[in-house]
Amino acid sequence: MKIKGIHHIGIAVADLEESLARWVALFGAVPSSIEEIPEGGVRVVHLRFSEGSMIELLSPLGKGSPVAQFLEKRGEGVQHFTLEVDDIEAAFRELTEAGVQFISEKPQLGAGGARVAFIHPKSLNGVLVEIRQGRKPQPPDLQPS
Ligand code: ZN
Repeated sequence: MKIKGIHHIGIAVADLEESLARWVALFGAVPSSIEEIPEGGVRVVHLRFSEGSMIELLSPLGKGSPVAQFLEKRGEGVQHFTLEVDDIEAAFRELTEAGVQFISEKPQLGAGGARVAFIHPKSLNGVLVEIRQGRKPQPPDLQPS
């Protein structure tokens, strides 16, 4: 299976609005609007930089969600990174056949309407890796929240 590249790096934060304001002020990144993903128990915002790479800030939506657990155990920090693939169904199948363990039983809906699946850190050097098949990037929404 071939990956297209790193799509974004996900950083768990306690206060999404405050963190977003800091990243925008410090680095001049263009934020998307804040999105709530109840399936993942997470609120996310993407910061796009001029070369097209992205940082994703995540904060918990509800107690007991994966991001809430991460913050409790480890505090704020890099939580996952994301590899872009052409065909997530094929990638999921191929990786599963290679013995890779996923957190969900099949790809799910993620931020921005992308389809995503998370590889268990046990299967990949202790790192939580998201694979994603996205739609083409949308023009960024210039108004944060
Ligand atoms: Zn992500």
